[in-house]
Amino acid sequence: MAKLIDGKQISANVKEQVRIETEQLKEKHGIQPALAVVIVGNDPASRVYVNNKKKACELVGFKSFEYALPEDTTQEELLELVHTLNEDKNVNGILVQLPVPKQIDDKAIIQAISPEKDVDAFHAENVGQIMIGDYKFLPCTPAGVMELIDSTGVEISGKKCVVIGRSNIVGKPMAMLLLHRSGTVTICHSRTVDLPSITREADILVAAVGKANFVTGDMVKEGAVVIDVGMNRLENGKLCGDVNFAEVEPKASYITPVPGGVGPMTIAMLMKNTLTATKLQNHITD
Ligand code: NAP
Repeated sequence: MAKLIDGKQISANVKEQVRIETEQLKEKHGIQPALAVVIVGNDPASRVYVNNKKKACELVGFKSFEYALPEDTTQEELLELVHTLNEDKNVNGILVQLPVPKQIDDKAIIQAISPEKDVDAFHAENVGQIMIGDYKFLPCTPAGVMELIDSTGVEISGKKCVVIGRSNIVGKPMAMLLLHRSGTVTICHSRTVDLPSITREADILVAAVGKANFVTGDMVKEGAVVIDVGMNRLENGKLCGDVNFAEVEPKASYITPVPGGVGPMTIAMLMKNTLTATKLQNHITD
């Protein structure tokens, strides 16, 4: 039986640390971090994410500004808002909730965000910094996964790590962070041949596929650490990961549940990045 990795508790610890540091920042320097959250359109999932991010800001003592734009917003209009927020000294972090409606090129928007305020760490400059291992911000979901793995006490160095998924926001940076910690990393994707033979080798398996119950028991090595990034909505409205929990849990040594695993960590790491951004912008090193 696997031990559950409690993302709720671990994320609460991260947020508490951010809250304490934020209080100190206010007391010592009179500075309160501020996050601008931009949402375009009426996607219900995006609305939930944005509300959760605003709630987390409140919890840790940040200001948050929401910009809710209509579905038919043009790329130029969104770019104009991003430029305004880049210039606004009262804003330390900018987050544009993805996906944006199809008339808007999300790459252009990400590139328009000032790298110092790019608390999602999606801008090419920040991605490049991650590649060379000299970064200010880490992308929130992979950084959260690293915290979860570290909470188990399992050493990453020298371990076989398999990441299923190669997206720019999860799979690729995830692999890079595991590599920085000296894991031997394999990235799998939809063209991978005989995926189970590769995943069965993994000491640490990270699933970021976006398909409910995709990772089955026969794909997992006995004693593996299994991290489920997937967030899939079933027809009955229930949230479900990429890992078939019932089959995999008896084989794994540690496993994350969905919900209550990676999801809460992503928001906690966003808070951490916003605090880091605020300190960097104000040249505060303590
Ligand atoms: P994505 O951009 O759709 O990427 C999915 C990846 O899975 C792609 O690289 C794809 O390969 C690969 N894939 C698809 N079918 C496969 C197959 N049959 N075998 C092997 N690989 C396959 O998704 P994403 O943005 O990375 O997100 C992945 C999941 O994580 C989603 O469920 C998402 O909701 C969730 N997520 C959760 C959080 C959180 O906070 N918990 C944050 C972000 C994302 P190709 O590249 O070849 O197409």
